[in-house]
Amino acid sequence: MRCPICGKVVPPDAPESALPFCSARCKTIDLKRWADEEYSIETVNEDKLEEEIAQVAPTDGEN
Ligand SMILES: [Zn+2]
Repeated sequence: MRCPICGKVVPPDAPESALPFCSARCKTIDLKRWADEEYSIETVNEDKLEEEIAQVAPTDGEN
């Protein structure tokens, strides 16, 4: 089995919690990659962003 991040063969003593990656470090890199992709998709979606800003912004005339 090879690590999908660094391409190295996953060592037999790799921590089970890190599988299918060779180490916790590569697992973290993969998670971060997914997080970055989701973040960039949200950034591109400007309509949704404006909607969220409108919800957060205080309405005029309440004070
Ligand atoms: Zn790796």
